[in-house]
Amino acid sequence: MFLISITHCRYGHKGKNVHSCGNMTAAEIIPGVHAIRGKFAGEFGFIASYLIVDEGEALVIDPGTAGDPGERIEKALKSFGLNHRSDLIGIVCTHGHPDHVGGANRLRRATGAPIMIHEKDAELLRNPQSFFEERLLMDRATRLSMKLDKGPLRVNYRGCEPDSLLSDGQNIQIGSTSLQVILTGGHSAGHCVLHDGNRKLLFAGDEVNNFPNDPRKFYVDLTGSLVSRMAALERLSKMGIEHLLPSHDVPYLFGEARLQFGAAKDGIMHLQDTVLTHLGDRGEADVEQLVFDVRQSRSVPIPESLDSLIQTTIQVTLQGLAEAGLVKSLGKGVWTKV
Ligand SMILES: [Zn+2]
Ligand SMILES: [Zn+2]
Repeated sequence: MFLISITHCRYGHKGKNVHSCGNMTAAEIIPGVHAIRGKFAGEFGFIASYLIVDEGEALVIDPGTAGDPGERIEKALKSFGLNHRSDLIGIVCTHGHPDHVGGANRLRRATGAPIMIHEKDAELLRNPQSFFEERLLMDRATRLSMKLDKGPLRVNYRGCEPDSLLSDGQNIQIGSTSLQVILTGGHSAGHCVLHDGNRKLLFAGDEVNNFPNDPRKFYVDLTGSLVSRMAALERLSKMGIEHLLPSHDVPYLFGEARLQFGAAKDGIMHLQDTVLTHLGDRGEADVEQLVFDVRQSRSVPIPESLDSLIQTTIQVTLQGLAEAGLVKSLGKGVWTKV
């Protein structure tokens, strides 16, 4: 197991000595970096929030859904001897999907800390319904069923304004820890990752994960781009990352993470090849037919419960292939190989 449960917090400050945290609220992954896991959410895996604690200051990366991990974030702050109303310097959202921003407004009310997100995903924070309306390809019935869903993509929170907008290259200082914001813009247009160069650590959000043969390697929303994702993976793979902390499931720690970036790139290329092959076989096809073919062939892993995500991803894949001159639209949602 990579996760080490905390029995003693090394980063208790504000006049407190090292004290016992004594609960499973947070797991210290490496000194000063804690994962607060939400519930297991089926094919989503776990939703993890990360808490960076240094010299009496703390930063939350991705506050999760509305309710999960929820109050456990404040409990973790308190368990480190921090004042949850004054020591949390920010709530960073790597991107605007409901499993990453749903808990932001509530956490801001509880702590007073500013919400930070990139402008290209800020609309999802301001207007949560825009996730269904603008980010996913879906018919009315699917939209309704997603609206009623209680899963990790539930939109059951009110919109709010971000307090500050993240920009590519910006530094965020937490005590002596410096995090650089990198706009990757693959998984969604405003997706950012956060890099701690000193510790060779990357908070990867949903842009890159640690699982072989996992569809989360290529999911994108309608504003996303597999071309941007490939470019970001290429750039990140050259940064000597040794600790990869994705938003879902377990981190990859203490090793050269280049293989993880390579696996993510392979996953995307395989999806593109698969779509091209099926389109070639059919001659002409729309997205639904291609989703059907991809499912039938079982050559790309697609969980049944995440149907709207794969439909959207294949639509964006076709747009990328069109930009590369490999496919073209025939109108009315029908595509063909060039
Ligand atoms: Zn996402
Ligand atoms: Zn996510």
